[in-house]
Amino acid sequence: MATKKAEILVIDDEEVIRSGCQQILEMNGYSVAVAENGRIGLDKIIQHEYDIILTDIMMPEMDGMELLDEISRLQKELVIIVITGYATLENAINAGRKGAYDYLPKPFNPDELLAKIERGLDYRAHLREVQLLRQDRDRNMLECSNERARTLTIINSMSEGVLAINRQGQIVLMNPMASKIMRLSEERAIGRTFDEILRNPDLKKSIVSSLQQVQADLRSTRLEFDTIYGRAIEASITPIIDENKECIGTVAVLIDVTEDKKIEKMKSDFVSYVAHELKAPLGAIEGYLNLILDGITTNNPQTEREMIEKSRDRAHGLIALINDLLDLSRTDRKKILKEMRAINVVHVVGEAIEFYRQRADAKSLHLTLNSTGQVPSIRANKDDLYRLFANLISNAIKYTPENGDVKVDIKRTNSHVRVDIIDTGIGISEEAQKHIFDEFYRAQNAVDKKITGTGLGLSIAKKIAEDHHGYIEVTSEEGAGSTFRVTLPIIQSE
Ligand code: ADP
Repeated sequence: MATKKAEILVIDDEEVIRSGCQQILEMNGYSVAVAENGRIGLDKIIQHEYDIILTDIMMPEMDGMELLDEISRLQKELVIIVITGYATLENAINAGRKGAYDYLPKPFNPDELLAKIERGLDYRAHLREVQLLRQDRDRNMLECSNERARTLTIINSMSEGVLAINRQGQIVLMNPMASKIMRLSEERAIGRTFDEILRNPDLKKSIVSSLQQVQADLRSTRLEFDTIYGRAIEASITPIIDENKECIGTVAVLIDVTEDKKIEKMKSDFVSYVAHELKAPLGAIEGYLNLILDGITTNNPQTEREMIEKSRDRAHGLIALINDLLDLSRTDRKKILKEMRAINVVHVVGEAIEFYRQRADAKSLHLTLNSTGQVPSIRANKDDLYRLFANLISNAIKYTPENGDVKVDIKRTNSHVRVDIIDTGIGISEEAQKHIFDEFYRAQNAVDKKITGTGLGLSIAKKIAEDHHGYIEVTSEEGAGSTFRVTLPIIQSE
C-alpha cells in the first residue's frame, strides 16, 4: 500500500509545473524534492533513494529520455512517471521501453497527479516486496550452496570411501576414495544401480538388507571383503533416515585395510616364527640336559661331551637369532638417534674381514680384500656400516663350501663407493633372488644343505644401505656363486 511519507522527486524545467506539483504533493503528505533539468535530477537520484521520480521529457541539458537511459545504467529499480506535453502513443512506448512505469499527459489536474502517484507507490511497494523476496532467496541459495560445497569438500577429502545409495538402489554419491577402492570413476557410477556396479555378493546383500530396514531396527552392518584387485576392505553400511524416520537410502563407508592386514599378518608371522625358532633349539638343549641328568651318559664321557657340544651349538644359534632380532629393531630406530660421520669404508670392511677370518680359515676359504685407488669417506653410522658388511661377508663364508673364494673389492665410481662381495658358493636361484631381502626368507638350497640362518641378515643390510642413501644388488647363479654389490654415496665436500 502507498504510504504518505513517500519521497518524490519532480524534474521539470518549467517552474510552474515544479512548484505546482510540489505544492499539491506536500499538501497530501508527501515529501518532495525538485530539479530543473535531467542532469540535476540524476545527481539527486544518485545521492538519494526516491520512491517516485516524476520527470518531464523536453528539458535543456539532459532531457527525459537521456535521463531514463542514465537511470537504467545505475541499475536501480525506480518508479518513474513521465510528464509529457506530447502525450503521443509513440512517446509513451519509447519511455516505457526505457524503463518508465507510467506517463502523465500535460495539462493535468491535482486529482490526476495524485492518482498516478498512488498507483506508482503501489507498484513501488510491490517492487520492494519482490526485491526482498529475491534477496532472501539469493541469501538462502548462497547459504545452501556454501553448505553443500563445504559438506562435499569434507566428504571428498575423507580417507574413507563413501558411497550413498538411494531407495531405488542407484548410486547418488561416490567420493574419490570410494572411486579408488572400487576402481570405478564417479561419472560411470552415479545414476547406475549398485547391483550393476558392485561385484562383492556380501556387500550387495548388506546393502539390500540395509535398504529394507524398518524404523525399529536401524543398525549398521559391518563386513570385510577382498576386492578382485586384492585389496582388503572393511565396510560399514548404515541406512539413511529422513525426518519422517523413513529409510531413504543407505550409506556405505569403505576403509582399505590392506596395509593394516599385512602388518597384522607380519606381526603374527613374526611371533610364531620366533616362538618356533626358539622352541626347537631349547627343546633339544633340554633333551640333552635331561639325558645327562638321568645318568644315561655317566659311563660314556664321549657321548656326554658330544651332547654338551651340541647344546652349546644350539645355544650359539639362539644367540645369533637374538642378535639378529636386536639388529632388526636397532635398524628400525629413527635415524636421528644415530651418529653419522665421515667413515673410511676400507677400514670398516677390513675390520669385518678380520673378524671372520678365523671362520674362513676353518673352511679353508681364500678370503681377500682389494681396494682400487683412493677410496673417499662416506657419511655413515659406523656400527650400522659394520653390521652391513659383516652380514654380507659372513653370508659369503657361510654359503661357500670348503676351499672356495670370498673376495671383497672396493672402488670409487664418480659419486659413489662400490663394494662387491664375491663368493664361489652355492648361489641363489633366480626365483629366490626376488625374495632374499625379505625378512625371514631363506632360499631352498640353503635350507636343503642344512646351513643354519635366520633369514634376517639381508633385510637388515638392505635397510642400512637405504638409510645411507645407497642400495644393494645381487647377481648370482645357482651352484656357481654370488656377488652382492653395495653402492653408497660419497660425502659431497670430499
Ligand atoms: P640367513 O640368516 O638365512 O643367512 P639372510 O637374510 O642373510 O639370512 O639371507 C637370506 C637368504 O639368502 C639365505 O637364507 C640364503 O638362502 C640366501 N643367501 C644370502 N647370501 C647368500 C650367499 N652369499 N650365497 C648363497 N645364498 C645366499
